[in-house]
Amino acid sequence: SLTIGIVGLPNVGKSTLFNALTKNDVLAANYPFATIEPNVGVVGLRDGRLQKLAALYDSQKIVPAPVSFVDIAGLVRGASKGQGRGNAFLANIRDASAICQVVRAFSDPNVVHVDGKVSPADDIETINTELILADLQTIEKALPRLEKEAKLRKDRAGIAAAAKAAGELLDQGITLYAGAAAAGIDVAELRELHLLTTKPFLYVFNVDEEELNNAAFLDELRALVAPAEAVFMDAKVESELIDLPEDEARELLESIGQPEPGLDQLIRVGFRTLGLQTYLTAGPKEARAWTIPIGATAPEAAGVIHSDFQRGFIKAEIVSYDDLMAAGNMPAAKAAGKVRIEGKDYIMQDGDVVEFRHGA
Ligand code: GDP
Repeated sequence: SLTIGIVGLPNVGKSTLFNALTKNDVLAANYPFATIEPNVGVVGLRDGRLQKLAALYDSQKIVPAPVSFVDIAGLVRGASKGQGRGNAFLANIRDASAICQVVRAFSDPNVVHVDGKVSPADDIETINTELILADLQTIEKALPRLEKEAKLRKDRAGIAAAAKAAGELLDQGITLYAGAAAAGIDVAELRELHLLTTKPFLYVFNVDEEELNNAAFLDELRALVAPAEAVFMDAKVESELIDLPEDEARELLESIGQPEPGLDQLIRVGFRTLGLQTYLTAGPKEARAWTIPIGATAPEAAGVIHSDFQRGFIKAEIVSYDDLMAAGNMPAAKAAGKVRIEGKDYIMQDGDVVEFRHGA
């Protein structure tokens, strides 16, 4: 499933955000290196369609699409040279499908900044540099071996050439995610090296609540990371929101001019960055959302439920969520001709409500 690794300099609000995300009570303290152990939290993608489906099918429970967040500690300036806890963060970051950098853009003078000043551009550069240096070390270590293998085995020539080109790109301070395609590097060749900068990046700017509606300020920050996506939130407000009853949370959001919690936005942007979508299943047992890549076929979607469903796929009975709700229920949707029987070549759409037929 979708795993997002959270990185950032010390004291930018990672733990605060992470607590809010997972309602875990991770230590959030006002000094560097407070976040000392990796933490994993699983959050559901908020999806109002599931409630309605559950009501329609009298489902016993609702299972949203899960998103895992890994709080990656120890990525600080000089980590690649052994500062802080050195490269200890590498193992945790490798499992993440995307990297989310939390960037401090709030001004509170009571919160110490590790570099003595609040500068989003510098902080982004620092983290980028550490990730690039980590990848360069990986490549420098592997390249002699890869080149030796390439001399002996034809099938190793691709990875050796790709690794060499990747090293040259990284040397220019460009991440593989940003520059590999333009440089003609096939990152799929590099998979076994577990490089960090091949992963998609997204950014959370932790801003003061008064700035959340300051469009000029937010545009400036957005420009620092474009074309990567930026989410803006006040991590402190987010951590207050989770302790409030629904109606009070809504009031607090309204008072700061926000239509929804920043966390919901982050999870959605994470899905978008990774090219993911969800389809839905519903019955008396559960109403559930399943995560698939955009462009997945019906058998691939079935395989997310169980690999046997993919192997034994026969057909899928599909109605779009909107059509189902407009008709009122399944028999009415069928009578209106909105329920389709789709075969193995069908490309899934977001919000398809599905029942698979399989011979497994
Ligand atoms: P981490 O080291 O990146 O995990 O940072 P923490 O989440 O531990 O936050 C460091 C300090 O900054 C704590 O005292 C937080 O309460 C404070 N902090 C976090 N987010 C915000 C924010 O949005 N505004 C303000 N004013 N303080 C914050």
